[in-house]
Amino acid sequence: MLRRCAMKILIKNVYVITMDDEDNRYPNGCIAVQGDTVVYVGDAEGLPEGFVPDEVIDGCGMLALPGFVNAHTHSAMSLFRGYANDIPLMDWLAQKIWPLEDRLQPEDAYWLSMLSIAEMVMSGVTAFADMYMFMDQTARAVEHSGLRAVLARGLQGLDARSEQRLIENRQLWEEWHGGAEGRIRVMVGPHAIYTCDGNYLKRCMDLAEQLGVGLHIHLAETRTEVDEALKKYGKTPVEYLESMGFFNLPVLAAHCVHLTPHDMDILKEHDVQVAHCPISNLKLGSGIAQVSLLLEKGINVGLGTDSAASNNSLSVMREMTFAALLGKGINEDPTVIPAKQALKMATIDGAKAIGWSQEIGSLEPGKKADVMLVKCDVPHYHPAADPVTHLVYSGRDADVDTVIVNGKVLMRRRQLTTIDLERVYYEVEAIRRRVMGGA
Ligand SMILES: [Zn+2]
Repeated sequence: MLRRCAMKILIKNVYVITMDDEDNRYPNGCIAVQGDTVVYVGDAEGLPEGFVPDEVIDGCGMLALPGFVNAHTHSAMSLFRGYANDIPLMDWLAQKIWPLEDRLQPEDAYWLSMLSIAEMVMSGVTAFADMYMFMDQTARAVEHSGLRAVLARGLQGLDARSEQRLIENRQLWEEWHGGAEGRIRVMVGPHAIYTCDGNYLKRCMDLAEQLGVGLHIHLAETRTEVDEALKKYGKTPVEYLESMGFFNLPVLAAHCVHLTPHDMDILKEHDVQVAHCPISNLKLGSGIAQVSLLLEKGINVGLGTDSAASNNSLSVMREMTFAALLGKGINEDPTVIPAKQALKMATIDGAKAIGWSQEIGSLEPGKKADVMLVKCDVPHYHPAADPVTHLVYSGRDADVDTVIVNGKVLMRRRQLTTIDLERVYYEVEAIRRRVMGGA
């Protein structure tokens, strides 16, 4: 344990993209890590003389960046990848997903989350925000894998188990908030306004207030959600939540596809954090969020994949490319969401969205060492240009070579160090056979 705390890593000969406020970059840079913390980022010549590393990583031909943040996902839903495609959200949930979820056992969520975590690490994600059931099992997977996460018990408030779910969210906080060497934080996770009534939402707010944490919710995802809220409350979903004081607490709102200008003003006024999930919104035919307008208003936007059931990948790299391209396409304006903005959304702004930007999201001395190395000695990074444009417009998950979280190497030259992938595949396949039947 002592050795682990004192472990020093030097990443050298690397092009460092810090994503700090000054957008500092160091083409011949190095990063020094001590324990879980970055202690130096800069030109090689500036490395403190007394720094004697235990491990040296040669970053020749690579970029070093802060790890990606997946600001909205449901990691244990990896079971449903490829299971139900090409149908609308409510049919997808009610007819396909929810009936099978009833057959899941708690320990299934451990292996299903581990599958998602492996996929995320292999595509450069170093932190994620999750909302689902059996979240203590996801927490165990986060603890064992070494990743960083903000976890919420998904809270649906319209059936007999509603109270139990609130209890589980509290227990999750008691057991895991600040756990796994500080890599786990807990939020309260009301699923959506169409799965929670007003009283239940207030219970969720009370719990969040008591625990001193924020709320993670799906918001204004589909036109149906907005139409039903208007019919039922005479308010948009955003206006409805504002009217009950929901936004007086820190809120991470996933999707925000269908917003009025007034909704956007409310989100800005209350500093609501948005998780933009473009690929899930496209696949479920929900629409395309007006991200450029949100950004113009000064609203912070991170990127989320949503689950492997509605995406079907957990790649923030892919999400980043889509976010940049969609913004240009729907606005018929190629200047909208430039590459640098897209990369911010995938890193530092994602960290802000999940409430963790004081410690992660950029490479700076004093911040946690969540770093990825991306190979750029590959054809699609040639000829040389701004590496950020290459990363956003032609980058691929498989370019991610090495991933470090909290100062620990989780993947080295594409090999996972904490996850036995063959075991994960075996366990997930057994769960699939039991839950879905078939060979
Ligand atoms: Zn979701």
